Amino acid sequence: MILDLFSLKGKVAVVTGANTGLGQGICVAYAEAGASVIGVARRSCAETAEKIAAFGGAFTECIVDLSGADAIDKIIEGIENSYGHVDILVNNAGIIKRADAVDVTEEAWDSVINLNERLVFFLSQTIAKKYLLPQKSGKIINIASMLSYQGGIRVPAYTASKSAVMGMTKALANEWASYGVAVNAIAPGYMATNNTEQLRNDAARNEAVLDRIPAGRWGTPEDLYGAAVYLASAASDYVNGFTLAVDGGWLAR
Ligand code: NAP
Repeated sequence: MILDLFSLKGKVAVVTGANTGLGQGICVAYAEAGASVIGVARRSCAETAEKIAAFGGAFTECIVDLSGADAIDKIIEGIENSYGHVDILVNNAGIIKRADAVDVTEEAWDSVINLNERLVFFLSQTIAKKYLLPQKSGKIINIASMLSYQGGIRVPAYTASKSAVMGMTKALANEWASYGVAVNAIAPGYMATNNTEQLRNDAARNEAVLDRIPAGRWGTPEDLYGAAVYLASAASDYVNGFTLAVDGGWLAR
């Protein structure tokens, strides 16, 4: 049956940035689809765990500061101490720092690039090498952005990192598709989470953003459920290196 292709029953998914926002939504969607979810976060994932426990889903948290030098080792430890294998990796954790380009410090630039770009590559490399490539199956889903396509305003490091995420998605897909490991990305549009709080609190910017979205509203974590489950499931087995925009039509304008 076609809907069976979307099931994640028996799969183990690792999702970074699992305590809030889009990452929390992806954890809930995967657990609803039948996966056992390992949520990586630097703060407690109690709220995510509660949402998943409400329908009897499986969720384990793995507390790690992803800016630490030992972040990847700690994630591997979390995997080995829970399910011992991985089928799906979602590189969701990300930060944004707003400043005029002339005022961006090296520290701010490095912190954004390290989390949004460098970690995405090396965590994907480690998970692929240790689990996905040897088992000849797996899905990696990177969270890109509208700023993988566009320049944005006052967020140059974020734009650089998210443009890299889209490029890296294609580069890794080219190398790993023949092993049955699919690498794809989701580019969310303007979603109501902590990431966009500053923007939504600025009346002029809020109106400008809303005016440009054909759907006429900010997106929600629930809006990503379908795309996230699709790209993690057998339903997308011949999809490789693609970035799927879930943006209420933003890019169509
Ligand atoms: P969010 O609510 O700010 O969530 C970001 C997540 O990343 C949080 O779980 C955060 O944990 C985690 N994180 C940040 N730094 C971390 C670190 N050093 N170690 C561990 N975890 C860390 O934002 P969101 O909107 O859900 O963003 C999720 C992803 O979607 C990001 O990659 C973002 O760039 C992307 N995105 C968002 C939008 C949007 O409109 N919201 C649009 C396009 C793309 P803490 O809570 O502990 O900080």
